[in-house]
Amino acid sequence: MSGPWDGLGVEAVLLDADDTLYDTRTAMHRAGAAAAQALWPDADPDRLARAGVRFRDDPEGHFAAYTRGEIEFDEMRRARLAELAAWLDRRPEGDWWDAFEDAYEPAFLATLEAFEDVRPAVAALRAAGLAVGVLTNSSGDYTRAKLAAARLEDLFDVVCSRDTLGFGKPDVRAFHEASRRLGAPPARTLYVGDEVSTDPLGAADAGLPAAWLVRDGEPDERGLRLVEARKVPVVRSLAEIPDLLVGDAVRFGPGERAR
Ligand SMILES: [Mg+2]
Repeated sequence: MSGPWDGLGVEAVLLDADDTLYDTRTAMHRAGAAAAQALWPDADPDRLARAGVRFRDDPEGHFAAYTRGEIEFDEMRRARLAELAAWLDRRPEGDWWDAFEDAYEPAFLATLEAFEDVRPAVAALRAAGLAVGVLTNSSGDYTRAKLAAARLEDLFDVVCSRDTLGFGKPDVRAFHEASRRLGAPPARTLYVGDEVSTDPLGAADAGLPAAWLVRDGEPDERGLRLVEARKVPVVRSLAEIPDLLVGDAVRFGPGERAR
């Protein structure tokens, strides 16, 4: 490769999916509330209004258990739903799981929107000759559905998910295998994502240059200290990524080497 990209030698870019490519948080909030309302219309109205937030917050940590490979995707979803039912003081009965999914999924996918910066940023990266892929801890099937709902399904060279890789972020192997599938060494694959531990810190500790995407509000203090210690920049939009790749490798730092 020649030109301004030589500074870092980046050959590929890996992007997180949820809340990096599309607004999963908003879609989960709306769909969770709609599905809880459809399933349990006589539950406490204040809690029903917050049901999507509760569902996404996942206070029992089932998604984390799924990313560690301890449970499968469907099991994770059911456990989160059971927690939500208990919080609403409802007892799951009959085909409650199917009924929730029937209400939740169409609402979620209909609400899910790509962030406006995704397509132009990927186009700029491609124009510079870089491969661009996705690394997500969601499932492969679900990620395909989400990419299609957000009209981004044509955009990426590679889509890597926790279930298809066999391990999830921040496992070093997830970053290394995704880089391999993109055709670039980890040290030449830039990683960008929004969850500080899972995304930029995980990537940096796996030896990838990384950036922390903070779309809304201010980055939390602890996260900021940790990324600064690894020379990982905070970006507010994917539009910053092509510019950041121009020039000085020091801006990304080498990351700590994989252990
Ligand atoms: Mg994310």
